[in-house]
Amino acid sequence: MMTATVSRLPGDVAFWDEFLAAVRQRLGETTKFSREEPLAAKTTIRIGGAARLYAEPGSVRDFQTLMVAAAAAGIPVFPLGRGSNLVVPDEGVAGLVLSLAHEAWAGFEPRVDGLLWVGAGLRLKNLCGLAAKVGLTGFEFLEGIPGNVGGALRMNAGAMGGWMFDVVEEVRFISLDGTLRTASRAELHVDYRHCAELQTAIALGALLRPVAPAEMESVARQIDVYKKKRQESQPRDPSAGCIFKNPPGNSAGRLIDQSGLKGERVGDAEVSPIHANFIVNRGSATSADLIALVRKIRKRVVDAHGVELEPEVLLFGKEWRDVL
Ligand SMILES: Cc1cc2nc3c(=O)[nH]c(=O)nc-3n(C[C@H](O)[C@H](O)[C@H](O)COP(=O)(O)OP(=O)(O)OC[C@H]3O[C@@H](n4cnc5c(N)ncnc54)[C@H](O)[C@@H]3O)c2cc1C
Repeated sequence: MMTATVSRLPGDVAFWDEFLAAVRQRLGETTKFSREEPLAAKTTIRIGGAARLYAEPGSVRDFQTLMVAAAAAGIPVFPLGRGSNLVVPDEGVAGLVLSLAHEAWAGFEPRVDGLLWVGAGLRLKNLCGLAAKVGLTGFEFLEGIPGNVGGALRMNAGAMGGWMFDVVEEVRFISLDGTLRTASRAELHVDYRHCAELQTAIALGALLRPVAPAEMESVARQIDVYKKKRQESQPRDPSAGCIFKNPPGNSAGRLIDQSGLKGERVGDAEVSPIHANFIVNRGSATSADLIALVRKIRKRVVDAHGVELEPEVLLFGKEWRDVL
């Protein structure tokens, strides 16, 4: 039993070491499992510390082993996609980070019934590219979103007028207790940048419904149009995408811009001069810099417009309300 072998407190280095040693021997050879894995390079904004425990499970069984063991030891679990909607705290993450980086989760399987099965670890860019190659259309709007399918499901990512769940038929996920489940779109509670079920479960893959087949050239043309639009409107510096959700009927970027905040900095965290709803890392920003800048923006926007902006980007392993 995990609880019998792991006897120390989470503040204690040995607690994590013992968990790793006890669980590693039960995992398959292709599953990476490590201690103090640096996370900054696994995120697009390149900020933050290490994960006390980090794994890239290579099979459903290993996911289950890790999740059941973590639950038994009282260790919180945090799924990681491509880290494009996350800020990792400077002190790192006190838990088990489960990444979908293993190739087992990057599947792309068109089916004879016209539907498309994709793994949660498949990059959205690859989903669009592969779909275009086989003449499947309807995913072009996802092309420039730098996440993978799992992150896009959890966030109900959206762009160019489309949302991830517009194309979802069903999602396969694993709950914190290790139970494997498939839920149809209708069974899932989906909202703006949110899928309720995936707050407490890890998506492993999804069945998608393409729209009517189209010529490869026209799909590629549409992708180019979206790409150009993005290149013109978004910064290239490291960021975590839009930092705040758009308030109902309003634009967070416009409110921040109108509050005179473009170019505002705390340390190396800067409100992008190109798109005011992006905070960019100018070199060696810390999460403390970014959080201080988020506070500053929120205060200025409340003072100028009476609107309280809610972060869209997630603080990995923490709640914004605890730091703002
Ligand atoms: C330059 C830039 C442009 C962007 N443009 C857009 C845009 O146009 N539209 C948009 O919606 N977003 C945009 N984003 C934000 C981000 O790319 C999306 O939210 C994306 O869907 C996140 O995917 P990810 O794999 O990077 O998830 P991560 O950032 O790794 O994770 C995000 C959240 O999902 C959880 N998660 C990750 N994988 C899973 C899984 N398999 N199961 C359950 N939970 C999981 C994580 O724990 C975390 O809570 C942009 C980001 C950047 C940097």
